[in-house]
Amino acid sequence: METDVLVIGSGIAGGITALEAAQAGARVTLLHRSFDPEKKNTRWAQGGIIFTGPGDSPDLLTQDIVSAGAGVTLPAAARALAEQGPRLVQEILIDKLGVPFNRRPDGEFDITEEGAHSLPRILHCEDRTGMRINESLMAAILAEPRITLRQPAVAIDLLTLSHHSRNPLDMYEPNTCVGAYVLDRATGRVETILARETVLATGGLGELYLHTTNPDGARGDGIAMAYRAGARLLNLEFVQFHPTALYYPPGPRFLISESMRGEGARLVLRNGKEFMARHHPLGSLAPRDVVARAIHDELLASGDPCVYLDLTHKNADWIRRRFPSIYAECLKLGLDITRQPIPVVPAAHYSCGGVATDLDGRTTIRRLWAVGEVACTGLHGANRLASTSLLEGLVFGVRAAREIGAALQKNEDAVFPPIDPWVSQKEPSDPALILQDWLTIKYTMWNYVGLARTTRRMKRAQKILRELQTEVEDFYARSRLDDALIGLRNGVQAALAVLYAALQDRTSRGSHYLDRSEDEAAGSQLAPQDAPI
Ligand SMILES: Cc1cc2nc3c(=O)[nH]c(=O)nc-3n(C[C@H](O)[C@H](O)[C@H](O)COP(=O)(O)OP(=O)(O)OC[C@H]3O[C@@H](n4cnc5c(N)ncnc54)[C@H](O)[C@@H]3O)c2cc1C
Repeated sequence: METDVLVIGSGIAGGITALEAAQAGARVTLLHRSFDPEKKNTRWAQGGIIFTGPGDSPDLLTQDIVSAGAGVTLPAAARALAEQGPRLVQEILIDKLGVPFNRRPDGEFDITEEGAHSLPRILHCEDRTGMRINESLMAAILAEPRITLRQPAVAIDLLTLSHHSRNPLDMYEPNTCVGAYVLDRATGRVETILARETVLATGGLGELYLHTTNPDGARGDGIAMAYRAGARLLNLEFVQFHPTALYYPPGPRFLISESMRGEGARLVLRNGKEFMARHHPLGSLAPRDVVARAIHDELLASGDPCVYLDLTHKNADWIRRRFPSIYAECLKLGLDITRQPIPVVPAAHYSCGGVATDLDGRTTIRRLWAVGEVACTGLHGANRLASTSLLEGLVFGVRAAREIGAALQKNEDAVFPPIDPWVSQKEPSDPALILQDWLTIKYTMWNYVGLARTTRRMKRAQKILRELQTEVEDFYARSRLDDALIGLRNGVQAALAVLYAALQDRTSRGSHYLDRSEDEAAGSQLAPQDAPI
């Protein structure tokens, strides 16, 4: 199959890129990995999206983003978002897609404030902003005749001239992407989709960790595919953790808002004793990374699976009024937060790094673009400012679509190279191996490449993950392909990419917390053979 633009992933970033490119005249093929909208991070975004508040300005927003990024944010990326973001929210989300953002009785938008923003500037749809944006976006995509939605379909690997062309002389061309191998999950068939321009929009990688707020689509597929194709990756050590997610083993780690601690909830151990005063003078109100690491340390010391957030000293009616969604969500699981403390753990939440791009989504591979959480424009630096990521998908999706349109016009007669069809294997994949290997990835990343990293922990992780990758590649080469196997192969590759980035970055800052006391005591340095390959 041939298409002008292949977009891999249908969250806010991929959806907006597909829609804008199609409306500018391109034939777009959009891969939707699952019928279930819950499999994308966009669906879970609760708080809201940056707009503009009274007294706000692009300068002020740029300043807030840059100060959250702990010295690593690229100012030009923050400025692009701050200058174009609010206008695009108005033009695309409000005017074109009709997203039902909450309004006050006087008809004005209900603008709220979030941590580390200098003033209120956030638009929201109750606490279901992502869900509402996704519904409006998918409706527009379904109504757009130039978009072919392929679902359920999952990209296996990017096609490049040097890796996949049957013409041996193509390896002398600059590294160029020409589409992807794609598995149709309904039929089990693998298709070669040739595209003049290919866009990675596969979201984040929270699933690499034992505890995460992300749904199971966030397993780092785009990072792994880009790495195998030879693209530059950037800032992957900066994985942001949320300090308090609901600990309920069978379910996803539902976010427990930080405002609960602001309203007086106490963090306690299983025996009811508070512990935060031992970690920070502000106790339970310490900054989010301090709280997350303190909980992690307490869990390592006690061996318990979770700590508790206790609000039971507050009036029950007030709790129900102040936290209606958290109250309802916990009650569904049999937990009455007016009478019982809430079991919580920190959880991997957002990947600040990703596939390196310029401010229009161009990667280091020709005709390959990346947008949204899988991409790294430098916007988030070492730490993300709350509520910037939906806006990032919108702004950089629009910018990439515009440049893709220009590229299509410039290279009107794209010729595709001859590509070998996919060769399928016969052996069924063993679900026990997949399950166990995922547990190995998740525990290794959580304990050794998680909230508090040391050289010793990361070296241990390196041994485990390298060995696992050899096993998984062997298993992958012999087995009949399915989505779970594709995910496992990508999961171990993405985990190694995060680990290598963390090993290489010897500065502890932002969401990369490096404890070097062991190294300093031993006077040791990272040996050259530990450098990323
Ligand atoms: C609980 C939670 C709360 C959040 N709250 C906010 C908030 O209030 N404000 C804010 O701005 N941000 C918030 N975020 C972050 C924000 O939701 C995400 O960063 C953003 O939605 C990412 O959008 P995306 O389009 O890049 O990725 P996604 O929405 O994750 O979409 C990626 C899609 O690609 C698919 N995919 C993956 N691999 C493949 C493959 N190989 N082939 C085909 N498809 C593939 C996935 O299944 C998924 O459907 C929150 C995130 C979470 C998890």
